[in-house]
Amino acid sequence: MADFDLFVIGAGSGGVRAARISAENGAKVAIAEEYLVGGTCVVRGCIPKKLLVYASHFSEEFEDAASYGWNIDGVKFDWKTLIAAKDKEIDRLVGLYHTTLKNNNVKLYEGRARLLDKNTIEVCGQKVTAETILIATGGHPFMPDHPGIEHAISSNEVFHLETLPKSMLIAGAGYIAVEFASIFNGLGVETTVLYRREKVLRGFDEDLREHLTSEMTAKGIRFIFNDTIADIEKTKTGVRVTCAKGDVGDYDQVMLAVGRNPNTRDIGLEQAGVKLTPGGAVAVDALSKSSVENIYAVGDVTDRINLTPVAIKEGHAFALTKYGGQEISPEHDNVPAAVFSQPQIGTVGLTEVAAKEKYGEVDVYRAHFRVLKHTLTPRSEKTFVKMIVDKKSQVVVGAHILGMDAAEIIQGIGIAVKNKLTKADFDRTLAIHPTTAEEFVLLKK
Ligand code: FAD
Repeated sequence: MADFDLFVIGAGSGGVRAARISAENGAKVAIAEEYLVGGTCVVRGCIPKKLLVYASHFSEEFEDAASYGWNIDGVKFDWKTLIAAKDKEIDRLVGLYHTTLKNNNVKLYEGRARLLDKNTIEVCGQKVTAETILIATGGHPFMPDHPGIEHAISSNEVFHLETLPKSMLIAGAGYIAVEFASIFNGLGVETTVLYRREKVLRGFDEDLREHLTSEMTAKGIRFIFNDTIADIEKTKTGVRVTCAKGDVGDYDQVMLAVGRNPNTRDIGLEQAGVKLTPGGAVAVDALSKSSVENIYAVGDVTDRINLTPVAIKEGHAFALTKYGGQEISPEHDNVPAAVFSQPQIGTVGLTEVAAKEKYGEVDVYRAHFRVLKHTLTPRSEKTFVKMIVDKKSQVVVGAHILGMDAAEIIQGIGIAVKNKLTKADFDRTLAIHPTTAEEFVLLKK
């Protein structure tokens, strides 16, 4: 008989949820974590990032406050205070995750685990056996192999900088890159974004991509498109970055946010016979089962949609399917998402291009306007709202927003899009006035 019914490798968003729900349903569960329980989201992802996002918003809030009659003389920012407060909160959350595992009788191994075969795990110098294994090892920042790469930081290190840099180059233009560019710009850092293609946020609706670039530029962020880093040299004060097309710049810090790779190396997947996708993720079916009967995988290591709520849903669905007598495949359509750039993005459903490919004819509604708050401030920032409707059925198949509170707004719109409501259903709903969200029920061609 095996030591455990279930052994989970990785105590992040997906792994902890799967362990807890499996244990609640009677399984004898163990989990291994090589770094900190809570995983990327809690320790070096969503949570610390959002705290830095809040911090960086204050600069504009203070500026805007002056237009509303406030005297803001003497306002100062201290990076060390912010990082200490953030670390305290992360410690508290990590503690809560430990408590969750303990309260559910999940045995925690604090060390790196690897498979020796399909039922045996080596962890903390021991060999442990389990009937079922769940790979929930997440991903890590991809660091390309160019000269001087050791002088660059990734999103792992950015949360622990000793001092706030005066200038920063961020390579990449995915959501992590634009979020950190906005954070540092908001904190007064001279910020440059370098990207090898021509536009930020590949895969997002084209209008959002363009409007975000122009709004970030208006806030003082410099963009270098169609270029890459060729070399990074250490200087007395920071780094000198030379780009392939010859641009040379001196910065205090250079951060790479050029993608993330699944954590599938050196964990014994080959020994166990687990197949990987061409991108190196664990290949799974709709129930998160790998090519090996008793080995499952959830979260970023499967590279389906790499977001915390998705990893949690996949972990939960796995546990209920395996130990709860239900068969649940996690749904991956119409997942609402946000980008905590400044301004923010909220998005759900299809882009205009994808909707045209899928449905042929679509109705597109757009609104581009200055929010009430900025009628009293000198800020030229505009909010952008877009809705895409399948012409035949009139079902809303995509909703996108760039502007203040976009993430908060899109969560509710996500319910409507997920449930296939029509444009007429939106129009029947009364507006809440004066808000930005009301645009979604007022859109006209
Ligand atoms: P993880 O949370 O990464 O957990 C995997 C765990 O496995 C890690 O703790 C790791 O140490 C451990 N591990 C790996 N290998 C081993 C091993 N061999 N033995 C033992 N332990 C091992 N998502 C959002 O939804 N919203 C956001 O705003 C957001 N912001 C993000 C910002 C940043 C900077 C980053 C990097 C990510 C962000 N994400 C966000 C993505 C989110 O963090 C991930 O999608 C989520 O954490 C995935 O959960 P997971 O369980 O798959 O993996």
